[in-house]
Amino acid sequence: AAVMALGPSAAGVGQLGRRLTVASSHIVMTEPVPDVLDSVGWTGGESITDARAYVHYLRTTPDGRIAFGWGGGRMAFGARVGGRIEVDPAVAAEIRRHLVRFFPALEGRRVTHAWGGPIDISPAHLPAFGTLAGGRAHYGFGYTGNGVGPAYLGGRILASLALDSRDELTRLALVEPASAPVPPEPLRWIGGNLIRSAFLRKEAIEERGGRAGAATELVAGIPARLGVHVGR
Ligand SMILES: Cc1cc2nc3c(=O)[nH]c(=O)nc-3n(C[C@H](O)[C@H](O)[C@H](O)COP(=O)(O)OP(=O)(O)OC[C@H]3O[C@@H](n4cnc5c(N)ncnc54)[C@H](O)[C@@H]3O)c2cc1C
Repeated sequence: AAVMALGPSAAGVGQLGRRLTVASSHIVMTEPVPDVLDSVGWTGGESITDARAYVHYLRTTPDGRIAFGWGGGRMAFGARVGGRIEVDPAVAAEIRRHLVRFFPALEGRRVTHAWGGPIDISPAHLPAFGTLAGGRAHYGFGYTGNGVGPAYLGGRILASLALDSRDELTRLALVEPASAPVPPEPLRWIGGNLIRSAFLRKEAIEERGGRAGAATELVAGIPARLGVHVGR
């Protein structure tokens, strides 16, 4: 048996290609700023996330830096996970602006690192496991940007599938779930970008206390009407 735990590259596997989309998530990291952390009382190493569709996630490091991520990076075309999906200077610059909006005291302080990578987004926002037609190759994908903990369970599920154990792990609802198919390329990329733009516009307007226009709401509402979750 073979196990394919390919992350976003699962989108390049013929039988899985219509079951996930790929978009990038990026992080920037500041120089040590213990004075800023002290001033806002963020000294316990807490990790923080907000609740938007394109989520911000942030934490401190032991040497007093802030690592600040944003799940609003670009859509990948199909399974092309290189280039700007991995390192996108424009998205890193955008995240720096978000960082300073969150922490105005960081204006003028250095960002020393920036990086990103592809996220395997499943329409249900839950990972999926199963066996390809032919019965010899088993797959797990779709952690949707939250795979560090769940990949442990995923590994156990894949081991049970590979051993043909038919136990409580292979009977979980995450195994061979019914799922709404994502559109084929180039529709996925074009539609995904339109929806991403609508969500970003809507969230920016709502952050200023406004209400998005009807066209923006209509486009941002398409995924929900198709049974697809958007965001991380
Ligand atoms: C910027 C960023 C921030 C993130 N932050 C968090 C977070 O805070 N919390 C969290 O839980 N998750 C986070 N994630 C997501 C997390 O990294 C993934 O969910 C997790 O790594 C998925 O594990 P995986 O084993 O499925 O895939 P991966 O860790 O992606 O591993 C897949 C491996 O398959 C290899 N591969 C691909 N194609 C082939 C091939 N054809 N042949 C051989 N090997 C191949 C790849 O090189 C890779 O090593 C983040 C991701 C990014 C990019």
